[in-house]
Amino acid sequence: MKILVINCGSSSLKYQLFDMETETVMAKGNCEKIGFPDAFHKHKTSDGRQKVYDSPMPTHLEAVNSVLASLMDKEVGVISSLDEIDAIGHRVVQGGSIFKESTLVDAEVTDQIEALAEMAPLHNKAHAIGMRMCHEALPNVPMVAVFDTTFHWTIPEKANMYALPYEMSKKYNIRRFGAHGTSNKYIVQRTAEMLGKGPEGTKIIVCHLGNGSSITAIKDGKSVDTSMGFTPLDGVMMGTRCGAIDPAIIPYIIKHCGVEVDDLNDFVNEKCGVEGVSGVSSDFRDLEAAAEEGNERAKLALDMFAYQVKKYVGAYMATLNGADAIVFTAGIGENDGEVRRNVMEGLGNLGIEIDIEKNKVRGKEADITGPNSKVKVFVIPTNEEIMIARETMRLIS
Ligand code: AMP
Repeated sequence: MKILVINCGSSSLKYQLFDMETETVMAKGNCEKIGFPDAFHKHKTSDGRQKVYDSPMPTHLEAVNSVLASLMDKEVGVISSLDEIDAIGHRVVQGGSIFKESTLVDAEVTDQIEALAEMAPLHNKAHAIGMRMCHEALPNVPMVAVFDTTFHWTIPEKANMYALPYEMSKKYNIRRFGAHGTSNKYIVQRTAEMLGKGPEGTKIIVCHLGNGSSITAIKDGKSVDTSMGFTPLDGVMMGTRCGAIDPAIIPYIIKHCGVEVDDLNDFVNEKCGVEGVSGVSSDFRDLEAAAEEGNERAKLALDMFAYQVKKYVGAYMATLNGADAIVFTAGIGENDGEVRRNVMEGLGNLGIEIDIEKNKVRGKEADITGPNSKVKVFVIPTNEEIMIARETMRLIS
């Protein structure tokens, strides 16, 4: 069975084609800058063949068509006919209160996912577009939506509720939905394996640090708290998202700082975070280069980020009453030893220490626990795609 996993962003489309017999990736790639004149599509096969396509991609439909063509390309193709694709699995950030499980996709489900865009403005609209375009290109292929929020339905009420009037929270479904759940699920499985036991009886803190960042407390393999909230804006500051701020700042900036109500979502999601503070970039590689050259604001943004992540680690050490493992994953967590060191520094009293040498690891699984640490510290590259492929196969079978 072959499953195509799609992760659609507002101007991007990432994909992986899996052979589920062996759970191996046959080909993968990404389309970037969709809708812009300099759009491109990079495609790579598992045996090392590569190609970059630069034909125009004014919409996601051209991107989907380019992906399908690349999978059958004479030089870099891995299938001879689109009939070989048995199903498509879509990553969806926000499932709201409607989707508590993965689901087969039809027109109604797509509309419902789009309607949830208010609670994931950077993501859900793009997911719905991706679904429609895939359906247009492959109308007979079943599709499954796998939600980042599903994993967090186990968070107890005391941690999932906001202190708004109870009736309002319930009537309007205002609660902590979280995100990165598919990533967390993968990390829990791998961490338990690395600890040499099943998820039952383990306490794990996952620091998923990427363009979007979240920290999650996991007990017995189940999410019990997470830093992202009603939307993926809550919690720590991120690339361009402000994270948790005093809610009174919102009316204040509307009144005094020239931010229009209609622009507010864009503002807090796209103009803030480490980019807003540093004025340099949302990419930690750029920030570290700038800080190295003496840019004080880049250094401040990096310090703020590590400090905020550390606060969540401390909070979850308290709520879980200790942890067996702390795991770093996603773009920053997997690659950025500097951030990991800054987050883990000064936690000796909580029994947490990392090994400075082992912490130099980049992009691969590693145990970076210090010699005197009571808590294991791991780097584990996440693999949301394989989780989506497995879930897709389960639903269509
Ligand atoms: P993700 O959202 O998980 O794809 O993470 C993307 C982010 O990871 C980028 O914006 C960078 O900030 C960060 N990142 C990726 N590679 C590195 C690296 N080698 N060193 C530091 N940060 C990195």
